[in-house]
Amino acid sequence: MTADPQPPPDLPPWPDLPAAQQPAWPDPQVVGSVVAALAELPPLVFAGECDALRERLAAVARGEAFLLHGGDCAETFAESGADAIRNKIKTLLQMAVVLTYGARVPVVKVARMAGQFAKPRSSDVETRDGVSLPAYRGDAVNGVEFTAEARTHDPNRLLRVYNTSAATLNLVRAFTQGGFADLRQVHAWNKGFVRDKPAHQRYEAMARDIDRALSFMHACGVDPEEFRTVDLYSSHEALLLEYEKAMTRIDSRTGTPYDVSGHFLWVGERTRSLDGAHVDFAARIRNPVGVKLGPTATPDDAVALVDRLGARDEPGRLTFISRMGAGAVRTALPGLVEKVSATGAQVAWVCDPMHGNTFEAPDGRKTRRFDDVVDEVRGFFEVHRALGTHPGGLHIELTGDDVTECLGGSGGIIDTDLPERYQTACDPRLNHSQSLELAFLAAEMLGEG
Ligand code: PEP
Ligand code: MN
Repeated sequence: MTADPQPPPDLPPWPDLPAAQQPAWPDPQVVGSVVAALAELPPLVFAGECDALRERLAAVARGEAFLLHGGDCAETFAESGADAIRNKIKTLLQMAVVLTYGARVPVVKVARMAGQFAKPRSSDVETRDGVSLPAYRGDAVNGVEFTAEARTHDPNRLLRVYNTSAATLNLVRAFTQGGFADLRQVHAWNKGFVRDKPAHQRYEAMARDIDRALSFMHACGVDPEEFRTVDLYSSHEALLLEYEKAMTRIDSRTGTPYDVSGHFLWVGERTRSLDGAHVDFAARIRNPVGVKLGPTATPDDAVALVDRLGARDEPGRLTFISRMGAGAVRTALPGLVEKVSATGAQVAWVCDPMHGNTFEAPDGRKTRRFDDVVDEVRGFFEVHRALGTHPGGLHIELTGDDVTECLGGSGGIIDTDLPERYQTACDPRLNHSQSLELAFLAAEMLGEG
């Protein structure tokens, strides 16, 4: 049994609904004191910023903007240092410039960062050499090390999630507002990428076009603030309800509840049950929210989610993140898009080309093929083109580092390379170069439309 966090006096009580994928905390009293401490701490984001993001996502839903949503599968406390954060931001910014060029509309940037510490798992236990221990559920719950001590669920970790998220967000804000994100700088990095390897030369024409556009604007004396700073929003899966509820506050401006642990929260494929606690939670907060849709989601499920989440009359409120797999996207997605569109609801449709394309390499490591990722993105664009709807964005698991977790790309990573730098705590991520290649390829696809 776990102690349920008490809402602040002005929040209505949380209903008691089935909640999948929750930790088995050993001591409810400790949970209670952690939750009480979290509820006293300052918000990590301001409700007004969540509203601004909702407005931008409304533009995505209307077909007037494109969303780039990316970052780690699982952030870890150990990998939350300045270098890892900087490299991820740099990768996202580099991708965003290329996508802006391809899409010719503003790119809304949302990081899977500053809170992405909890993971749903398909099995409660992990067995190695005949020894079974609780599965790793993210640094928010237990440690990745395969020992009984590390794998014990520890609610005190939630306070560390808060502190690490605060520190990460602080650096994100400093980097994105303090000069690091200058468009000319980001473009210079992209030129470096194009020169870096013969295989990248196919992207040279696009880099040159961007160069010309920038030189032209410079010659005209155009130097807007937008060239020097960017808005990068934070997001994570709203999985651990004790944490998310403790971080939910009534906004003094509007008198409505916001989950101030991040700007954008999403409900995962394993917790999107219409009668479950996660969808109920998402329905109660005013943040823009997302829901993952895998190949088993039906058109009726999607429409029911639109209604349950109050998204029928509010573009920007709901983003559907489809994760069908390269083999299924062309057949599984159209029915969902068609039925939701027929209701008149304006939701943003975003493609997660990662989670439907995971498989086990011969050595047992989870991996993904870069070509499958690209093919799912291509299928996603095809589906929307055929229906006349807007392919609203990409949701990518990536890192700014040179890891060997996904196969293929211009680095030609093969399965025997995986052990070299396989560093993820959970799912395999595109490395820096694979992420940029994907951005260039997606920009070409956008340009074709
Ligand atoms: C994830 O985004 O890391 C994840 C677990 O995705 P999904 O809910 O789509 O499986
Ligand atoms: Mn993942």
